[in-house]
Amino acid sequence: MADKRDYYEVLGVDRSASEEEIKKAYRKLAKKYHPDMNPGDKEAEAKFKEATEAYSVLSDEEKRQQYDQFGHAAFENGGAGYGGFDFNGADMNDIFGDIFGDFFGGGRRAANNGPQRGASLRATVHLTFEEAVFGCTKELELTLKDECTTCGGTGAKPGTSPETCSKCHGTGQIRRAQQSFFGMVQNIETCPDCMGSGKIIKDKCPDCHGTGYVANRKKIEVAVPAGIDNGQTIRIRDKGEPGRNGGPRGDLLVQVIVADHPIFQREDMNIFSSAPLTYAQAALGGVIRIDTVDGPVEYTVKAGTQTDTRIRLRNKGVPSLRNKNVRGDQYVTLVVQVPTNLSNEAKEALRKFDEIVQGVNGGEEPAKKKKKKFWEI
Ligand SMILES: [Zn+2]
Ligand SMILES: [Zn+2]
Repeated sequence: MADKRDYYEVLGVDRSASEEEIKKAYRKLAKKYHPDMNPGDKEAEAKFKEATEAYSVLSDEEKRQQYDQFGHAAFENGGAGYGGFDFNGADMNDIFGDIFGDFFGGGRRAANNGPQRGASLRATVHLTFEEAVFGCTKELELTLKDECTTCGGTGAKPGTSPETCSKCHGTGQIRRAQQSFFGMVQNIETCPDCMGSGKIIKDKCPDCHGTGYVANRKKIEVAVPAGIDNGQTIRIRDKGEPGRNGGPRGDLLVQVIVADHPIFQREDMNIFSSAPLTYAQAALGGVIRIDTVDGPVEYTVKAGTQTDTRIRLRNKGVPSLRNKNVRGDQYVTLVVQVPTNLSNEAKEALRKFDEIVQGVNGGEEPAKKKKKKFWEI
């Protein structure tokens, strides 16, 4: 998948483009480059395929979200993505039904009783703050439907077989003529007797009660990429509901829920925290330890550091989902601690200290320059 062009660039639309704008841009390109319009033109064909692939992703809300998060990596094999684009299969049928319906005559959408991709399944996975930052592998236990082995998915009792539906003659559809403003119109409806399958089961399979499916408890490993954030979704291909009439399984969409951390807050790729400073450390400077997701680090505080000073620790933030070698930063607010419950000895020392400071500074009133006059509390 080397050097793929950005899908937005391919369609010539903005990253914030609306569904309608994306559709419009694709229709324009598709009309221009469609192989039927440019017979034998390989370059046009390549352009048509590129645009169609871009459209297949950007027109699907879920896939677009994945693409925005992960880039092309979202759809590479083994990644969190949905695999390649199928130019001959269901993906194409969907698009043609949607887009070319009005100018290529339409009706290319797969019939109701043809192979259909299974529905997507949704699940959630709970992560700690660190698991989301660094990625991890999680095991999910789910109840998945599988084809019933007793009846081979037909739903009919072994030794019997489903009969062709007499109402729709196996097509799964009922045509109904209706008078309209434009003349007689054929309405196509799903057959109510067979629910569109085209088949009627008289003797139901005892193991699946005629559904053709059995539920199995299964363990599924979820590879959680480093940098994922609360609310984002990982797509696992072919772990959804089984397809119908030989269609492929749907996908499993795993939504990530990240627990709060007692110290760290996160905003995109950056982490925010605060660290305490004693008054002496703030005034004199010194080395303090600051917690990061990589463990504690030493930081040298400058003499005269004011409370609420924010420092930046480079590359101590969250890795980018697109490139785990790129990391955000950690911003640490240094908070000077005002001592409480002082001993008499400490109070005495502090009074003495105050007298010296007042004497040295004379009438300069250094406290006025400070953001917070913590001596006045
Ligand atoms: Zn069965
Ligand atoms: Zn029927």
